[in-house]
Amino acid sequence: MDEIGKIHEVSTHILGGCPVCGSLPARVDLDTMEDIAPRVNHMLEVHGLRLLHIGQQTGTAANGEPFFATVAVLGEPNSA
Ligand SMILES: [Zn+2]
Repeated sequence: MDEIGKIHEVSTHILGGCPVCGSLPARVDLDTMEDIAPRVNHMLEVHGLRLLHIGQQTGTAANGEPFFATVAVLGEPNSA
C-alpha cells in the first residue's frame, strides 16, 4: 500500500466545499446524507484522493439536539 500524505475529512454535518480546492458541489441538502457523495466523488476523481474510511458520527448540536452525520476520510497519496 502506498504511503498516504495529507488527510482530508468531509462530513454531512459540516457544510462546505471541497477541502482541497474549495469548489462547492452543485447541490447541498442538509436533510439527506447524500450531499457528501458529490464531495467525495469530486475528491476521488479530480484530486485523485483515496477513500480511507466512511462512517457515522454523532454529537450534540448548538441547540442541544443530537445530530447524526456521515463522515468520509480521504487521503492524498504521496507522489514519491
Ligand atoms: Zn476540489
